[in-house]
Amino acid sequence: MFNEDNQSYSNTLKRLDELEKMPVQVNKEGDIREILENNGISRRDFMKWAAAMTATLALPSSFIPLTARAAELAGRIPIVWLHMAECTGCSESLLRSSTPSIDSIIFDYISLEYHETVMAASGWQAEENLHSAIKDYKGKYILMVEGGIPSGESEFYLTIGAEGTTGAKSAREAAEGAMAIFAIGTCSSFGGVQAADPNPTNAMPLSKITNKPVINVPGCPPSEKNIVGSLLHFILFKTLPALDAYNRPTWAYGLRIHDLCERRGHFDAGEFVQHFGDEGAQNGYCLYKVGCKGPYTFNNCSRLGFNDHTSWPVKAGHGCIGCSEPNFWDTMRPFEEPLANRLYSTKFDGLGADKTADTIGVVLLSATAIGIAAHAAISSMIKNKE
Ligand code: SF4
Ligand code: SF4
Repeated sequence: MFNEDNQSYSNTLKRLDELEKMPVQVNKEGDIREILENNGISRRDFMKWAAAMTATLALPSSFIPLTARAAELAGRIPIVWLHMAECTGCSESLLRSSTPSIDSIIFDYISLEYHETVMAASGWQAEENLHSAIKDYKGKYILMVEGGIPSGESEFYLTIGAEGTTGAKSAREAAEGAMAIFAIGTCSSFGGVQAADPNPTNAMPLSKITNKPVINVPGCPPSEKNIVGSLLHFILFKTLPALDAYNRPTWAYGLRIHDLCERRGHFDAGEFVQHFGDEGAQNGYCLYKVGCKGPYTFNNCSRLGFNDHTSWPVKAGHGCIGCSEPNFWDTMRPFEEPLANRLYSTKFDGLGADKTADTIGVVLLSATAIGIAAHAAISSMIKNKE
């Protein structure tokens, strides 16, 4: 446990003091306080966000000022963000909110030395930016990679930029000098849709391309909180967070969608949507029977939502499709039908979280069966009455 007297707290303070002495890397005008103010975000709002983020990171409230300070110092750490085989949805998750959230503003503020979607440079100049960032900040930059990485028959299924470098080579080189490495999104974490059967490009997760430790931040896309929170956690502690068997930070991926779902009461009561648009759907019943994979999916969407807590898939009326699990394109299909009595099992058979998921799956499927049976019994009672 953390508390103000313990080593963690004082180490973090020391680390933030050291970071403060580093030169500001951001080349935008103004510091984060001015940027927040210009976006209509008061100090009070910012501190409220810091409190929420501290709780999200599973830290005690004594860390709130440290989290706020870490966000303010985020501009001192250079970031190299590479795009591999992907749809850019993970970047979009952060960058395209109509009302910028504090998370997206922080992402805007950090020193993005290389990011194909948002940088002004192109062609040779862009390549030059990447090479110089990797050289100038050797051992000091954070690498974030979005997208699966094609790796054979030939790596040339993905070639990038004026030099025609393969994605795999580019990712390997950038990983070499990185201080920390994050696989952003399910494609980079586990291969994603590119790696779905039959995986014609032999797309790989980032962790198979480098032998350095990779923190996986999966999701299709991951929420802005999970991306920014991962960055803040590293700024605060400079160590790997507690990870599950798939290298996902447990502060974000430690619980199942189902554990905190707002429709959970209906699941327990055996009240299910039977078809999209039916009366159950109008009443906000549980979406398990129309395919919700929340019981098998480890992520915090049901706790945090998306777009500044506005909504999330289950709230909007469609079940979770399990996007933060390995191989979900293969193992969670069909997306609009329940897994029924098919046990959730991945190709990583036998690994820790998989075992946990299997065990939970067995228990849960029994619970589901009870829920469904209860519903069937109630329905038949009503029918008999009629
Ligand atoms: S099955 Fe899906 S909709 Fe139903 S309670 Fe679980 S997470 Fe929510
Ligand atoms: S609700 Fe499920 S499918 Fe949707 S983003 Fe969260 S984990 Fe992915």
